[in-house]
Amino acid sequence: MEMESEILSESESNSKKINIIICGAPGSGKGTQSAFIIEKYNLQHVSTGELLRQEIAKGNELGKKADALISNGQLVPDDMIIHLLEKKIDKLGPNHPKNGIILDGFPRTVNQAEALENLCSTKNAKIDILIDLEVDDEELIKRILNRGKTSGRNDDNLETIRKRLDVYNKQTKPVLEFYKNLGKYVGIDGMGTMEEIFERISKAIDEIK
Ligand code: AMP
Repeated sequence: MEMESEILSESESNSKKINIIICGAPGSGKGTQSAFIIEKYNLQHVSTGELLRQEIAKGNELGKKADALISNGQLVPDDMIIHLLEKKIDKLGPNHPKNGIILDGFPRTVNQAEALENLCSTKNAKIDILIDLEVDDEELIKRILNRGKTSGRNDDNLETIRKRLDVYNKQTKPVLEFYKNLGKYVGIDGMGTMEEIFERISKAIDEIK
């Protein structure tokens, strides 16, 4: 009986949360804008790129495999990243104190989007909105090369950027269609100052709240 009421209250708390996906090509400003969104809406940041970099820092087998793919501009396999994400979501638990989650860099394939929808339904949660930051290629390359000067990331170089853009166009763009079909897609003009872009994002989030 006690368990039942606990489950009920978890479901209730899940259904009130706002869960956001932030999507966009490498260099589109996902990380920067996530930081602003987290602060304003008190959300939990979940970046799959960060989760992978943590595994790489541990130097384990998974990290080594991920490192080789990331520095070559490729995606890591779906099962690897889905598993890491599930582990992170379970660690946070349904009653984490934030108002919801912002997923940064996930899903990057339709397979991952389907896995996410399944995960949400088992947790009685839902994705409210996918924010797509639209930035033209020339600007993307400029931003990543600039970031590469200080990020220490070995995937922030011209050769890898081109591969990452290609991977994005082929594998991640179909994810946008997936969320368009669910009526959750919002395209945001990602050109301009950080403040201007954030204002556009805030407006879109406020509309769904
Ligand atoms: P990010 O920090 O989001 O730019 O991610 C850095 C790199 O990690 C990407 O270029 C991919 O190689 C890998 N990665 C991050 N998230 C995913 C994902 N959802 N699926 C596959 N690979 C990913």
